[in-house]
Amino acid sequence: MLFKIILVFLALMALVALVGRVLFPGALPKVMRKKSTPPVCARCGRYLIGRATCDCDGKAGGRKRK
Ligand SMILES: [Zn+2]
Repeated sequence: MLFKIILVFLALMALVALVGRVLFPGALPKVMRKKSTPPVCARCGRYLIGRATCDCDGKAGGRKRK
């Protein structure tokens, strides 16, 4: 009996997570999102956080890189 209750509870949690992910994709933390990547130097590949140019005289353009 207790096992069944736990199973139903887990199933409900999974259902809520699935529905929530479909309804509110923007509510996920940044780590779980794959589309929004931080700007990366097109030359050396270093992360450019808070600036547009890199120490190696390269510009942020890593987003276009495949
Ligand atoms: Zn660079």
